[in-house]
Amino acid sequence: MGTSGTPGAAVDGGGVGVGVEQSRRLATALPGPRSRELMTRKTGAVAAGVGTTMPVFAARAAGGIVEDVDGNRLIDLGSGIAVTTVGASNPRVADAVRQQVEAFTHTCFMITPYEGYVAVAEQLNTLTPGDHAKRTALFNSGAEAVENAVKIARAATGRQAVVVFDHAYHGRTNLTMAMTAKNLPYKHGFGPFAPEVYRAPLSYPFRDGGLDGEAAARHALDVIDKQVGATNLAAIVVEPIQGEGGFIVPAPGFLAALAAWCRAHGVVFVADEVQTGFARTGDWFACDHEGVVPDLIVTAKGIAGGLPLSAVTGRAELMDAPHAGGLGGTYGGNPIACAAALAAIESIEADGLLGRAREVGALMKARLGALVERDPRVGDVRGRGAMVAIEIVRPDTTEPDAALAGAIAAAARAEGVIVLTCGTYGNVLRFLPPLTISDALLTEGLDVLDAVFGSIA
Ligand SMILES: *Cc1c(COP(=O)(O)O)cnc(C)c1O
Repeated sequence: MGTSGTPGAAVDGGGVGVGVEQSRRLATALPGPRSRELMTRKTGAVAAGVGTTMPVFAARAAGGIVEDVDGNRLIDLGSGIAVTTVGASNPRVADAVRQQVEAFTHTCFMITPYEGYVAVAEQLNTLTPGDHAKRTALFNSGAEAVENAVKIARAATGRQAVVVFDHAYHGRTNLTMAMTAKNLPYKHGFGPFAPEVYRAPLSYPFRDGGLDGEAAARHALDVIDKQVGATNLAAIVVEPIQGEGGFIVPAPGFLAALAAWCRAHGVVFVADEVQTGFARTGDWFACDHEGVVPDLIVTAKGIAGGLPLSAVTGRAELMDAPHAGGLGGTYGGNPIACAAALAAIESIEADGLLGRAREVGALMKARLGALVERDPRVGDVRGRGAMVAIEIVRPDTTEPDAALAGAIAAAARAEGVIVLTCGTYGNVLRFLPPLTISDALLTEGLDVLDAVFGSIA
């Protein structure tokens, strides 16, 4: 895509998806009548705890567009939370899935294995940072993979403690709730949580007075040393750029200093690249930007073009530490998801999506950077590649303004642009479009956002 100029510029998103016109269209007010009907059924049938960002039901999606059941076409700046990086109906993924469904849908890799799983493991062993011997295990969700990374680190080190960071998000299962920082909505009322999880301060340049990476790491390591002790510590688990926590990019050197300390103390350094991985940041992994080599790397979300798949990849001697039968699951590395992952990886390579992520990022940074200059309510723009966010504050302060962020996101959505929020304070607007979005659609989405900022006092 990077070389071909304007991906998805064609009417039907030629090459990027099948038959969904690549233009924004509001056929009804949002939500339209069909969506309202479905929402009523949803309320009657689906647990209330499963919320939705928009009360709008999808019918089709491709390129940079999600089309709803009323014929509205929304510009997608969220990729279903960083999942459809290669497009929501990537033709290679769709073909691979179709072929695999016809061959077989499931045997359970732990009963009669199949090649696709092994091929995905080989790809991950090659693509992830570092040229040491590696192994991979496949799972279904990001949270499940994070849990397994902790199991592996504990088995390999014989230690129990796990350190995570302020603002961290690692999932919604019991162990990953303990690892996640934010109470509402992720943890409230769901305790007790798993023990032996400790929290350290993060590098957060917008909010820590611009501490440099090494100083921020010293601060975190001092807390870890005093409150946990290296000899009790199995793993440090960190998102190289925090996702749900607010797209927080740590100061340069922070991750490298943590990794070096882990190496010196026999602690497993785990990068949770569930949101940052698979071309999202303009490299295969966010760790690549700083030359940081994790001992274990956790992937999910963008790995398989929308199918549920996750992985732990890492040093062979760590990965091989758990006994046979200690890792796995009925569906882990499902053959259809594996076929989709191989096709997604092929697309990232063949369509130049690493370069495309950088282009998309440059376009977003330029537009959002102009907003920061112009509007004192936009405190910060940050991110890497096609993972960019702005932090909304009371004018000319760092005081979070979640109400305004929510109002802006809601207004943009009403105009047919899917905008997601995040952040511990709920005041961050994050942008992670599919890399198959055209420059024209992306620009239009950002124009809508601009106009919304102008219209909300
Ligand atoms: C989304 C996410 C998870 C959890 O993944 P699920 O597939 O939702 O379980 C874990 N870590 C990070 C960094 C994430 O963004």
